[in-house]
Amino acid sequence: MHETDMTKALILTVKDWWESQPQQPQIETIHLIVGQFTCVEPASLQFAFNVQTRNTFLEGVKLAIRETPLVAFCHTCQEEYKPEIGQHYACPSCQAPMEDIRSGRELKIDRIEYSQAELEPSVTN
Ligand SMILES: [Zn+2]
Repeated sequence: MHETDMTKALILTVKDWWESQPQQPQIETIHLIVGQFTCVEPASLQFAFNVQTRNTFLEGVKLAIRETPLVAFCHTCQEEYKPEIGQHYACPSCQAPMEDIRSGRELKIDRIEYSQAELEPSVTN
């Protein structure tokens, strides 16, 4: 399964970052940018992540996934276009096959939200 391998890579990256911090912060949310053309389903990614982080420092961490559209560039027309995924991978103007992908294949960490060991806000009544 595609998502399983991607999740493994993601966890390793976060772990490296986390271990390099002077004080290991409590991670709350990992913001991801996932290209549409990776064919990763956000729900499957979250599920694989939940399974693989069970009983680790990442247990319970949420993934916030932002999808980026597939954008290709046609050299003949000198124009960007958005191919229809699974339908038509060619330039809509001149029908040249898609060869230059500008975005939509990425899977990267945008930012990591975390809280430092913080004091409980005092409750007054
Ligand atoms: Zn074209």
